Amino acid sequence: MEIRRGIAVSPGVAIHRAVVVDAEDRPVPRRSITPDAVEGEIKRLEKALQASVDELSQLQKSSEERFGSEMARIFVFHAGLLRDQHLLEQLQSTIRNEHVTAEYAVYSVLRREVRKLQQVESQFFRERSRDFWDVERRILSQLIGPAAEGLGDMKTDSVLIAVDLTPSQTAGLDKTRVKGLATDAGGRTSHTAILAHALGIPAIVGLEDITSAVNPGDTVIIDGNRGLVIVHPDAAQLLEYRSELARQAETKITLAEVARQPAITTDGVEISLMANIEFPHEVKHAVEQGAEGIGLYRSEFIYLSSSVEPTEEEHYEAYISTVRQLDGRPLVIRTLDLGADKINANIDLSHERNPFLGCRSIRLCLQNLPLLKTQLRAILRASVEGQVSLMFPLICSVMEIRQAKMVLTDVMEDLQEEGIPFQQDIPVGMMVEVPAAALQVRTFCQEVDFLSIGTNDLIQYTVAVDRGNERIANLYSAAHPAVLQLVRDVTRAANRHRKGVSICGEMAGDPEFTMLLLGLGLRSLSMTPPALTAVKRIIRAVSVNQCQRVARKAATFDSDREVQNYLREELRRIVPDALDGRSIVG
Ligand code: PEP
Ligand code: MG
Repeated sequence: MEIRRGIAVSPGVAIHRAVVVDAEDRPVPRRSITPDAVEGEIKRLEKALQASVDELSQLQKSSEERFGSEMARIFVFHAGLLRDQHLLEQLQSTIRNEHVTAEYAVYSVLRREVRKLQQVESQFFRERSRDFWDVERRILSQLIGPAAEGLGDMKTDSVLIAVDLTPSQTAGLDKTRVKGLATDAGGRTSHTAILAHALGIPAIVGLEDITSAVNPGDTVIIDGNRGLVIVHPDAAQLLEYRSELARQAETKITLAEVARQPAITTDGVEISLMANIEFPHEVKHAVEQGAEGIGLYRSEFIYLSSSVEPTEEEHYEAYISTVRQLDGRPLVIRTLDLGADKINANIDLSHERNPFLGCRSIRLCLQNLPLLKTQLRAILRASVEGQVSLMFPLICSVMEIRQAKMVLTDVMEDLQEEGIPFQQDIPVGMMVEVPAAALQVRTFCQEVDFLSIGTNDLIQYTVAVDRGNERIANLYSAAHPAVLQLVRDVTRAANRHRKGVSICGEMAGDPEFTMLLLGLGLRSLSMTPPALTAVKRIIRAVSVNQCQRVARKAATFDSDREVQNYLREELRRIVPDALDGRSIVG
């Protein structure tokens, strides 16, 4: 038995035999050709490129049906790479000058691109090297036939163990067969992570060498809730996880019922439960899970699934489709939160020494006003058809929020002049995700209509721990007493100033914190859709009095460990079945 820990990117548990997809390294030997064969090789190359483009357009169509247009854009991006004139010239000149086969030219030129990207400091660019791998494999399979990797012919339910999956592989996964996914590579923002989550497959990435630890046919448990892969589980573990699965199956029906019930405490206090989404097509699932609306639409994902800057129309289409699907339910659109780990090839941030403290988020937007204005126009135009609010991320100073509001006013004036309708009194909010904003919250209450506490960043900036760094992940804790104090103070100040306040970091969807958050005064929580039912079940089982007592007691501890243990014990005591059915699948 062996236990490996990675980054949990999609919740749930799976126990199955493993299918292992080897490293996709497919070396192509350097074969020389005679000078008179050069033109023939170039023709072969061009034919393979065209066939690959055709294949991609098919894939784009099918993935649009399955996942929506954002995901399909990955394949538009790949087709764009294939049509790139500079790339074509490099390939042709390699064949011409080095007298090598078309496949060797493809192999050597695209690997060079991959290596270049892998050396870049930014995680986002490193992850984009996957796209070049993908494109290389696609052309090679046209030239020399597909690599034998057996993904398409899975006959039985399995868990998939891979070095990494290319976007096409992940999008093409047969969900009826693949019950779990674990990869050596990948981070939170990788396509694999995004797609696995959208597919609802329990997934863990960043395991480093899971492909060497697992052989095809081994029994593997993927625990996507805790980020664990258990290889060759012993009898006790199998028993434990199987009985957990059985329990989950029973409670699944109860949870589906919970989704339709109101989020109200035993003493009658209503809690607003909202969902965080990255793509418009997630609205349906969120509403099915009982979300009353969208508390955080991470609009930057429009950028992250494309290599070109989205136009105003593309922004508008994404927002209006979200608004219409919500059918009158509230929607909070956060303006672009690009930078740090969320970056795009259009914006050259690769040389920042300290990207999380660098030109990210609202700072980036305020330095690129056309970027921000394009988005604001689209949000405002979409606002006429629903209940839309807009929210600025990573606000650190009053000047920043004032500047952002001024840009908004400018955009409103432009629309007015052009006779384009929009919601004049659209509520404007800000994320509280740095200690400076939390400490100055009273001042910010004068500036905005509502606050949303982004604990993912608030924790990393409060305890100085990079939220994506596995090596110090044990130091990154939502239960840190300093974090609790900031959340409490922000909530109190907002309530006192009668400003809306909600919380939208991952902490909001963690059942262990639900009582604490209600006790601190929060009445609106926004979370990833799969977390909604488990959190609601707790809300329906506790009173605000009980929660306030828990919050008071939690504030007396000195360390995150004590806080965490206390919250866990209280949850077990007050709501014994609280963690049952937490998005566990078979
Ligand atoms: C946060 O920081 O808590 C948050 C919700 O924003 P993101 O995770 O997109 O940085
Ligand atoms: Mg954030």
